[in-house]
Amino acid sequence: MATKAYGAHAADKPLEPIDIERRAVGAHDVQIAIAYCGVCHSDLHQVRSEWDGTLYPCVPGHEIVGHVTAVGEDVTRFKAGDVVGVGCMVDSCQHCSSCDEGLEQYCENGFVGTYNGPTPDVPGHTLGGYSQNIVVNDKFVLKISHPADQLAAVAPLLCAGITTYSPLRHWQAGPGKKIGIVGIGGLGHMGIKLAHAMGAHVVAFTTSESKRQDALDLGADEVVISRDPDQMAAHADSFDFILNTVAASHNLDAFSGLLKRDGTLCLVGVPEHPHPSPNVAPLIFRRRAIAGSLIGGIAETQEMLDFCAEKGITADIEMIPIQDIEAAYKRMLKSDVKYRFVIDSASLAAA
Ligand code: NAP
Ligand code: ZN
Repeated sequence: MATKAYGAHAADKPLEPIDIERRAVGAHDVQIAIAYCGVCHSDLHQVRSEWDGTLYPCVPGHEIVGHVTAVGEDVTRFKAGDVVGVGCMVDSCQHCSSCDEGLEQYCENGFVGTYNGPTPDVPGHTLGGYSQNIVVNDKFVLKISHPADQLAAVAPLLCAGITTYSPLRHWQAGPGKKIGIVGIGGLGHMGIKLAHAMGAHVVAFTTSESKRQDALDLGADEVVISRDPDQMAAHADSFDFILNTVAASHNLDAFSGLLKRDGTLCLVGVPEHPHPSPNVAPLIFRRRAIAGSLIGGIAETQEMLDFCAEKGITADIEMIPIQDIEAAYKRMLKSDVKYRFVIDSASLAAA
C-alpha cells in the first residue's frame, strides 16, 4: 500500500516527506491506519545516527496508536475498527528462551525494531510510525481500552510507559519503597506517574527548576534539583531504587551514593557519548548495583496498558503536525518538552 511518511535520507539531513510502500496483509498481519505517534528521544538519537548503524532512509516512530483496517486470514484477536497500539518491536524469533518467557525485547536472536530493524519488506529495513499506515504481525499488536478521546495521550505509553513500568515492576516499586526518577522528560514524567500509582514514595530529580511544581502535580512526593549538592546530600543512603532516564552523559556517582545498602540505580537513557566511569567504592561498600533495562515484553506492555486504563493514566502531551518535527526535536534537545510531543498523523495527508 502506498503510504505517506516523514523521514531522513542521511544523518545530517532534516526529516522530509517520503513515499513508502507497506507490504500486503499476510495471514498473521494486522494493517493499521495510524492516528497518532509519539516522539521519543530515541527517534532523534537514531535518525541523526548518534548510535551506530542507522539505515537510511530512516522513518522513526515507535509509539503508535490507530485503528485496524484489515487483518490476515489467521488473525483471531483483532478485527477491522479495533483500536490498537504498536510499540518498539514488530517481531522477534519467538523460539529462544527470552521469547519463551515473554521477554521479546531480550530476544537472543535480536528483536525486530519498529524502525531500523531487518525485514524482507522494501527497503530491507523497517520504517516506523511517522507514517499513515503500518502492517504488523498480530503477536506484536496491543489492545487499547482507554476512552477514544484519550488516544493521542495513550501513544507515549507504548515506549515511554513500558520502558519505565517494566523496571519499576522488576525492582518492586510499591508501598514502603523510596523510588527516585531522574530526568523529567517523556520517560521520566511517565516514571513519576507510574511509581506513584504503584504506591511508592516518589522523589523526582530534575535539572530544570521550572519543572518543580509540575513534578509534584505529576505525583512526586518530593523534588530535588540535581545540580544542587546540598539538596542531593540530604537524600544520601536512602533510596531503594532510582530510575535514571537522562538522555545525556553525566556523573552517575551523584546518584549511586543516594542508594541504601543493596539499592539499585537502573539506567534506561542511552546517551550518544558514554557516562564517565562510575566509582566502585560507593558500590562495593553498600553492595549497591548499577543496572540497565530495555523497554518491556509484549505481555508486560499489555499489562501496563490495562493498568493505565484502569487507573486513568495517560501521558501529558503537546500535539504537533508532522511538519513541525524538526522544531520539536530542537525543543527536546533543550529539555523543553511538557512532556511528550505526539504527531497528529492526519497532518501526513498534506505531506
Ligand atoms: P527526553 O524527553 O529528552 O527526556 C530526557 C530528560 O533528561 C530531559 O527532559 C531532562 O530532564 C534530562 N536531561 C537532559 N539532558 C540532561 C543533562 N545533560 N543532564 C542531566 N539531565 C538531562 O527523552 P526521553 O524520550 O524521555 O528518552 C530518554 C532516554 O531514554 C533517551 O536516551 C532515549 O533514547 C532512552 N530510551 C531508552 C529506552 C530503553 O528501553 N532503555 C526506551 C526509550 C528511550 P530535566 O529537565 O528534568 O533535567
Ligand atoms: Zn522510545
